[in-house]
Amino acid sequence: MRPSILFPLFAEIRTLSGVGPKLEKLIQKVAGPRLVDLVFDLPVGVVDRSYQPRLAAAEPGRIATVAVTVLEHRAPRVKSQPYKVMVSDDTSLMELVFFRAHADYLAKQLPVGEKRVLSGRIERFKDRLQMTHPDYVVAPEDIASFPLHEPIYPLTEGLTARPMAKAVRGALEKVPAMPEWQDPAFVKQRKWDGFVAALEIAHGPAHHSDLQPSTPARQRLAYDELLANQLALLLIRANLRGGKGRVISGTGRLKAKAIAALPFTLTDPQLAALAEIEQDMASEKRMLRLLQGDVGSGKTIVALLAMLKAVEDGLQAALMAPTELLVRQHLASLEPYAAAAGIRLACLTGREKGLVRETTLAKLAAGEIDILVGTHALFSEDVTFKDLGLAVVDEQHRFGVHQRMQLQSKGKPADVLVMTATPIPRTLALTAYGDMDVSKITGRPPGRKPVETRVMGAARMDDLITHLRTALDRGARAYWVCPLVDESEKIDLAAAQERAVMLRQALGLNAPHQIGLVHGKMKATERDAAMTAFKTGETQLLVATTVIEVGVDVPEATIMVVEHAERFGLSQLHQLRGRVGRGSGKSSCILLWHEPLGVTAKARLKTMRETDDGFVIAEEDLRLRGPGEVLGKRQSGMEEFRMADPTAHADLLAVAHDDARLVLARDPDLKSQRGDALRVLLYLFGRDEAVRYLRTG
Ligand code: ADP
Ligand code: MG
Repeated sequence: MRPSILFPLFAEIRTLSGVGPKLEKLIQKVAGPRLVDLVFDLPVGVVDRSYQPRLAAAEPGRIATVAVTVLEHRAPRVKSQPYKVMVSDDTSLMELVFFRAHADYLAKQLPVGEKRVLSGRIERFKDRLQMTHPDYVVAPEDIASFPLHEPIYPLTEGLTARPMAKAVRGALEKVPAMPEWQDPAFVKQRKWDGFVAALEIAHGPAHHSDLQPSTPARQRLAYDELLANQLALLLIRANLRGGKGRVISGTGRLKAKAIAALPFTLTDPQLAALAEIEQDMASEKRMLRLLQGDVGSGKTIVALLAMLKAVEDGLQAALMAPTELLVRQHLASLEPYAAAAGIRLACLTGREKGLVRETTLAKLAAGEIDILVGTHALFSEDVTFKDLGLAVVDEQHRFGVHQRMQLQSKGKPADVLVMTATPIPRTLALTAYGDMDVSKITGRPPGRKPVETRVMGAARMDDLITHLRTALDRGARAYWVCPLVDESEKIDLAAAQERAVMLRQALGLNAPHQIGLVHGKMKATERDAAMTAFKTGETQLLVATTVIEVGVDVPEATIMVVEHAERFGLSQLHQLRGRVGRGSGKSSCILLWHEPLGVTAKARLKTMRETDDGFVIAEEDLRLRGPGEVLGKRQSGMEEFRMADPTAHADLLAVAHDDARLVLARDPDLKSQRGDALRVLLYLFGRDEAVRYLRTG
């Protein structure tokens, strides 16, 4: 239960005065639904109105606050002209300019002969001073009513700076006094303020330097958030490992059969990873291990061999993948080995319904299924294993910490292996995965050929299409990935459809190359059908939005074209490139860029040309973009960070990690006085889940 001290902060933003349904919607979009979201939404800019020159000395282009006398109103003769008001101080004249003005309103606001204080940007137009639409117009006695320093928050279309700032101010006024949850000696040593004072400071910047992550106020707040994050991860992990795990040692009987059926030999990195996993499974402790390796590096086969070990001991295993398509793919690739080992394999996704589903569930509960492969449908409440020994989660890039926990909380203490195709830089591993043990499959994936990577300006599209036509004539199969446009799937889709039409025309004249299209808005069945057509060669060219990023295996595909490559992140590009070079043919990846090509984008494309080492790319990606985007917000755990920036605050993250360990070593159930305050901290940052693992009473 959330402590009552936090209730005011978890009120919805519509409870603020001046926030109606329309404004609420907009604010929700940029910050979130509750007051606490506003409070954690730190300013990204500041307008400094403290510059108060005499008019004659005013520097054009600067925001200034000036005291003037109103001289004259000049209504325009035609509506399309601006309304003007002449003002002056004793040094100079200035013209105020209003478009689409309401004369009555202006007459009242700026009465002729009266003194007024104005704030806004002063410009020089020919030899006249001008201020267009002053931000503030007040009588001299009301000067206190506007801020000399105005914080600017992230905005969205329809949401302007002032109502947003007012809402944040309103939320800040609701922040109650809080107990100190940090170690007082540490706070003192860092010369930090308390939480509430730090919030006030962070929301009241006077200069751009006050917006830096290195200010004491922002450091304090970041540290609070990082400590909450690290405590939560440790608690979750302690819980996962808490109960005694089971000893799964296996006989090696099924494993030997499956290995005998492999058409290849396992590589050294695969064998090393498997050995680490087997050791964990055989120990009394519950396994919580992350298996990292590029797409196609051969993680799945390692997972299978681990699952067989569980089956050898009479237990069940589950393999969960993020999409229907991947589930089918896993199923298809596991089937021959399952058959060779003589075990029972089944599948459960949202698509299995009615009798099929019931039968599967019944068999699962009766122990008549050895390995179950599925989507998150595996989490459904009615899914009961007879005896689950090992759960494998193939994350690709989709799942977050949360889902892993759900799988855990299904009851029996199964060992857990998480597979991820996104190499995770060290700093991020801490925030996203806490203390998980890590195995890596490094090096070029087995059987992979180097992919020739070419970076090309979109101006050369015609050349590219000519080459593509030749390649398709020779029977090649190619992907064409369309631009990722801001957040809008609709626009992505339109672009992809348009491109498919254009390519059909450009390529289709003298050759009947079939072109397929896949996108995120398709029904799963349609998408699978399009993928299957490409897999079987019925279509030779597959135009796609980034949905194909997630693990599709078509070894015959040898060409990958990525349009607007400058808009993709490095790891995305790396994943896309990983779609080709999987078969015997020589493969190429063409990264098409469009103007304008920024410095960062240029650096990304250069990296892509220079290396195909996923771990190098991940580190570079982190350096170029910052952590939020590297893994996708969800997987990185970044969506959980409002005020901390694990790159800028990397040192604090390390301290928080140690701090959290120390706290829990001394007070594992957070029962001390500081422990009480730390519970408030956990709830404050939405780590309710973690608190549940504390023993109460
Ligand atoms: P991941 O799960 O890491 O994306 P997969 O396990 O799906 O990778 O492997 C990709 C492809 O490589 C599969 O077709 C698989 O059969 C093959 N593969 C796996 N290990 C090896 C190996 N040691 N040698 C050759 N091919 C392998
Ligand atoms: Mg895979």
